[in-house]
Amino acid sequence: MENCLFCRIVAGEIPATVVHRTETTVAFRDIDPKAPTHVLVIPVAHHADVVALAADPAAAADVLAAAAAVAEQEGLTGGFRLIFNTGPHAGQEVFHVHAHVLGGEPLGPMLAGK
Ligand code: AMP
Ligand code: ZN
Repeated sequence: MENCLFCRIVAGEIPATVVHRTETTVAFRDIDPKAPTHVLVIPVAHHADVVALAADPAAAADVLAAAAAVAEQEGLTGGFRLIFNTGPHAGQEVFHVHAHVLGGEPLGPMLAGK
């Protein structure tokens, strides 16, 4: 999709530190990491958010499998958090669905201040 930041990363038009790639997914380090490991896993196909991704079950399964592979590859043996920010209440900023894989230290409460 034209002018989509993450489609442009898939196409190699914008640089990213890619840590894992399959035919249908790309995983790269978040530019502003919130944990020692912070990787974004995206489908190659453009879907705006996780609701749209859910309508493409094969792509959804591929994203989950890639997230699990990234967690293993990154050595997140203590566990990790997988987040799909969706819509304004969640503060979604990029409208090409992405799973945040966060780990590498205890992550604290699920939500800030809770
Ligand atoms: P969200 O708020 O869930 O939409 O998350 C968007 C994420 O994309 C944020 O964590 C940003 O730091 C990250 N991000 C934005 N631009 C880039 C980029 N060029 N390369 C890697 N990560 C990015
Ligand atoms: Zn896109």
